[in-house]
Amino acid sequence: MYTDNGFWDTFRAVHPLFTLLYPEVTEGVLQSLLNTYDESGFLPEWASPGHRNCMIGNNSLSLIADAWQKGFRNIDKEKAFKAMLNQTLAQGSESSVGRNGYEDYHKLGYVPYPDYYEASAKTLEYAYADWCLATFAESIGERAIAKEYFIKSQNYRNLFDSNVGFMRAKNKKGEWIEPFDATEWGGPFTEGCSWHYTWSVFHDVEGLAQLMGGYEVMSQRLDSMFSAPNTFNYGTYGFVIHEIAEMVALNMGQYAHGNQPVQHAIYLYNYLKQPWKAQQRIREVMCRLYSATPDGYCGDEDNGQTSAWYVFSALGFYPVCPGTAEYVLGSPLFQKATLTLPSGKTFEINASNNSLENVYIKHVLLNGKTFEHNYLTHKQIVSGGKFDLKMSNTPNKKRGVEIDDLPYSYTEKKLEK
Ligand code: CA
Repeated sequence: MYTDNGFWDTFRAVHPLFTLLYPEVTEGVLQSLLNTYDESGFLPEWASPGHRNCMIGNNSLSLIADAWQKGFRNIDKEKAFKAMLNQTLAQGSESSVGRNGYEDYHKLGYVPYPDYYEASAKTLEYAYADWCLATFAESIGERAIAKEYFIKSQNYRNLFDSNVGFMRAKNKKGEWIEPFDATEWGGPFTEGCSWHYTWSVFHDVEGLAQLMGGYEVMSQRLDSMFSAPNTFNYGTYGFVIHEIAEMVALNMGQYAHGNQPVQHAIYLYNYLKQPWKAQQRIREVMCRLYSATPDGYCGDEDNGQTSAWYVFSALGFYPVCPGTAEYVLGSPLFQKATLTLPSGKTFEINASNNSLENVYIKHVLLNGKTFEHNYLTHKQIVSGGKFDLKMSNTPNKKRGVEIDDLPYSYTEKKLEK
């Protein structure tokens, strides 16, 4: 089925597009994942077409959990469960096959550095993958594993240093690696620095906000990513990799949309009761960093992820956390967009009064009823209907600010109730 596929965050938003519009592709993806497990003993993370030693994480788990949550059932669930569990407890002949550093990760709650290259990025990806496995296990009645892996999904906490307010590397003894420089690329991170990986808690933004000191503090931290100078330390790379050069060229501070690790970050304002900041930034990225020209991408495309970000964002929503079956709201680019769904139904997105200046959502109706949430569910979209937004040039600071309006987080939302 594949020629070249990376399931690192390079593919994470492509798969949800399939689940919405091309379910037959999702069916094929699920089957091909299990075929690879049958043939090699591991799910693929980067196949071309066999296992390739490339990139990090266990995003095969994200693909399966996401499809399962969205109702795709044409899969051998016992085999899928066995394969997913095995993916977290073993490593193949290459470091990207299975889980590099799994013994230390399960023992310490993080992958130690410098024992393992890109250890902190791996820890954050593994914690998300553990949450994906837990949701799948819970859904098929594997309660003990669900419980164990929901706890492991909190391992991101082990790398957050509240003294500096960033994710950072720890050694095997549990000591922070010194000196810390949030602009230092590589080393414990993958094609990024701590400015990009600190937001890599897709399944528990609430938990991250609590670690940071609250919604307002985290929101200000996100703001500061854009206002920080676009300086860099190329760290272990030893030279300016193209992802660094692209971040500098974009001139949006430390925000590096040209590479994948940070591409979900703007949407996080929706979890912090400040959705209007997401609306403004998302439109800025769409209008400034993409164009219909041969050099219309601001960085590498990576298996469709950078395009999938745009397609979703232009529609007005984005899958921040595959596995939740939620799409977090942004700011639709068009006055009207119609999704023709495989069922024959349509989902119409009407953004009246939309323009280059009118990027803020004033109010929203879903099928004629006032809609206050900062996210749509997969079910709401595939059921078909009308999503009517009224756009404005000024933020509506009263919409999307109640606890019930915030997207899913594993940790109970108890901040500023
Ligand atoms: Ca990339």
